Amino acid sequence: MDKNPRLLADVEAAGKRSTENVARVESTAARERSERLQAEKGGRERLGHLGGRYAFRWQGDADEAESFELILRDSGKFESQYFSQLAKTMTDTQTHSGVWEVSATERQILLYKEGGGPVERWALDAHGDLDAGKDFALSKQRMILRPDDDCLDVAAALKSLQVDRTVGPVSKELFTPGPAAGKHRLEEFVRKRLSLFGQKRNDPTKQAVSGLSPWIKFGQISAQRCALVVRKAAKGAAKSAANDFLEESIVRRELSDNYCWYNQNYDSLKGASAWAVETLKKHSKDKREYLYSRAQLEKAKTHDELWNAAQRQMVSEGKMHGFLRMYWAKKVLEWSKDPATALATAIYLNDRYNLDGREPNGYVGCMWSICGVHDMGWSERKIFGKIRYMNYEGCKRKFNVKEFESMYPANSEVNGVQVGEASKKRKSTKAASSGAAKRQKRSK
Ligand SMILES: Cc1cc2nc3c(=O)[nH]c(=O)nc-3n(C[C@H](O)[C@H](O)[C@H](O)COP(=O)(O)OP(=O)(O)OC[C@H]3O[C@@H](n4cnc5c(N)ncnc54)[C@H](O)[C@@H]3O)c2cc1C
Repeated sequence: MDKNPRLLADVEAAGKRSTENVARVESTAARERSERLQAEKGGRERLGHLGGRYAFRWQGDADEAESFELILRDSGKFESQYFSQLAKTMTDTQTHSGVWEVSATERQILLYKEGGGPVERWALDAHGDLDAGKDFALSKQRMILRPDDDCLDVAAALKSLQVDRTVGPVSKELFTPGPAAGKHRLEEFVRKRLSLFGQKRNDPTKQAVSGLSPWIKFGQISAQRCALVVRKAAKGAAKSAANDFLEESIVRRELSDNYCWYNQNYDSLKGASAWAVETLKKHSKDKREYLYSRAQLEKAKTHDELWNAAQRQMVSEGKMHGFLRMYWAKKVLEWSKDPATALATAIYLNDRYNLDGREPNGYVGCMWSICGVHDMGWSERKIFGKIRYMNYEGCKRKFNVKEFESMYPANSEVNGVQVGEASKKRKSTKAASSGAAKRQKRSK
C-alpha cells in the first residue's frame, strides 16, 4: 500500500514549520559558532577556538527550571553541571568531567565521561544543540537547548498561537510536563506498579498502568526508553508484567503507527475492513434505545454512571483509563444516530480532552472500538452488527464498577473542575469531593 499522502503532507508541513522556527531563533552567536565549526577542518588546533563556558537555561513553566553549564578547557578537558528544579521541591544535580573533542565528520563536540566503562557521550552540535548520547542512543531523542542569549520567549510564543483555549490545563500534581517528570514517572512505575501491571491493568480503580502516554505523546520521553527501562527491571514476578508492557508499548503502539501511516482513511469509516463496513451499514438504521447528542456526551449526561464517570475522569484529569476507553467508545457507537457520527464524536472528545490525544493510538483505539480495526467479526447483534460488544455487566465482572463511579461522582469538583461540565478551567488547587479524596488516597 502507498504511504499515506495526507499524513506525509502534515509531517512535511510540521517539519518545515519547525525548521523555520529554529532558524528564526538562532542567535548571531550560535550562527558564528556554526560557521566556525563548518569552516575549520580537523585537527586539535580547533579546540582553542571552541573552549569557553557555555550556559543553557530553559524553563518548562513557572515551577520547572533546568540549566546546564559546560566548560570546555583548551587542554581538552571539560566540566559540566546539570541542574533541574521541579515544583520547588524536587531538585536534581549531576556533575561530570572528562575529555572533549570535535568530531571531524559530524562537526560536533563530543564529551567523554571520565571513569572507564561504557563511554557516556554528549554532543554539542553546530547549532548549539545538546545531543544526549548513550541514554538516548536508541530513541534518537534530542534535547534542543539554546544558549542563554538565544532563549526562546516561551510566553510570547504561546500567546501568539491561534488555538482553542477553552479546555484548560490539568493539575500539575497529576501530570507535570517535561522530560524530567516523564523520567520520574517511568522510574516510579517500575518501582511501585510494574508488578501490578500484569494482573491489574484493566482495573481502573487501581493504580497499575504506567500513566506514561502524555509524556510519550509530546516526545518528552520515548517509548523506546520506557521499553528498555522496563525490560531491565523484568526480574522475578515482574517478568510477565514487563512482557505485557512491552506488548502494549511496542506491538500495539507500532500497529497504530503503521495503520495511520499506510491508511489514508485512518479516522473514517472508509478505513475499516470490508466486513466491518458492511455490518455497520446493515445496522446503521437500527433503533437506538438511548440517543445522545455530542453536547450531552461531553457533559457526561447519560443514563450510564460508569460511562459518565469515565467521561468525567477524562475531562477533569486529562486521561481516561485505558480499559474504560474501549467501553466508552463502544457506548458512543450504541448511543449515536449512526456509526459515522459515533466515530467523529469519539475522536473529537478523545482528542479534545485526553492529554495523549491526537495520536495514532487514539485513532486506532476509536477505530478498533467502533469499526473493528485489528479485530474480528463477533456474533451479530443490534446496532453493533458483528463489531465486538461490551456492556456494563461485563465491566462488573472485571472490576468494582461502583467504586470507580464513586471516584468521579456527578456534580463534584475534581481538581478545581466541575466535572459534569466541559470546563474552561481544569487547573487546580484543592480536591474538593469525596471522589477526589479517594483518588488521592489511591495514588499514594
Ligand atoms: C477509544 C480509545 C482511545 C484511545 N486513545 C488514545 C490516545 O488518544 N492516545 C494514546 O496514546 N492511546 C490511546 N488509546 C490506547 C490506550 O488506551 C492508551 O495508550 C493507554 O490507556 C495510555 O495509558 P498508559 O500510558 O497509562 O498505558 P499503559 O497501559 O501503561 O501502556 C503503556 C504504553 O503502551 C502503549 N499502549 C497501551 N495500550 C495501547 C493500545 N491499545 N494501543 C496502542 N498503544 C497502546 C501506549 O503508548 C502507552 O502509553 C486509546 C484506546 C482506545 C480504546
